[in-house]
Amino acid sequence: MTALFEVHGLTRVYTTGRRSVVALEDVSLTVEPGQRLGIVGESGSGKSTLVRLMAGLDRPTSGTVHFGGRPVSGVPERQLGFLRASVQFVFQDPRSSLNPRMRVGDVVAEPLRSPLVRRELGALDQRRRVAEVLDAVGLPADAASRYPHEFSGGQRQRIAIARALAPSPQVLIADEAVSALDVSVRAHVLNLLMALVDDLGLTLLFVSHDLAVVRHVCPDAVVLQGGRIVERGPTQRLFTAPEHPYTARLVAAIPTFRARS
Ligand code: ADP
Ligand code: MG
Repeated sequence: MTALFEVHGLTRVYTTGRRSVVALEDVSLTVEPGQRLGIVGESGSGKSTLVRLMAGLDRPTSGTVHFGGRPVSGVPERQLGFLRASVQFVFQDPRSSLNPRMRVGDVVAEPLRSPLVRRELGALDQRRRVAEVLDAVGLPADAASRYPHEFSGGQRQRIAIARALAPSPQVLIADEAVSALDVSVRAHVLNLLMALVDDLGLTLLFVSHDLAVVRHVCPDAVVLQGGRIVERGPTQRLFTAPEHPYTARLVAAIPTFRARS
């Protein structure tokens, strides 16, 4: 089986003025089709930088990314059409990622209207697709004509998931997608996300600072510290028998786990 993503020696140094930050250093990994991979680490450990590079939204300082055998890094934006529809993001805060002045139907249809999307849909097909994905995330059909602020935090995250699903992606990248939600709402959104990933056979990159959430969603994970992968393996094993002290610290930082042990 060919890997869906092949990441080799990925490094990203941000330079602003005289300061340089090594956001990611020599990261290598592969992601198989249908895999659910967790990317875990504290704030600032390079998680978002890694997934942005993998999705071709940023250029590495060195190293390479291949998607489906095709190079992503260093390729001009106009040649990344094959990635744009195939790889979709769900971000942490739907309040800032959903345009408040757009109706939900237009928010969800937006990725269908990108000139880089493989197949362009007519207006009627767009409306049908919007209705389909709103239904898939458990929102009523009339949600399309309303505005994001009319919905609760959990519902807004469902809208963000519907938008990500609209162009029928192969890969979903959830970057702290449930981190801003209350615990009870979080469980519902996580279960929805997992059910959709299963049903649609999606590949999932699940980014979180919370190893407990990652364990719930992903059989395997990589642990990032200061831009480097310090440990990787089955999430269950990372949780119960961490080899790196940093992973052990992440486990110890989980409040419920500490309370129970
Ligand atoms: P995480 O997602 O794990 O919180 P990030 O990938 O966002 O971490 O950031 C990793 C490091 O790179 C941090 O030190 C952050 O401040 C820095 N960084 C990220 N993006 C930029 C940028 N556009 N310009 C300068 N520094 C950045
Ligand atoms: Mg981040």
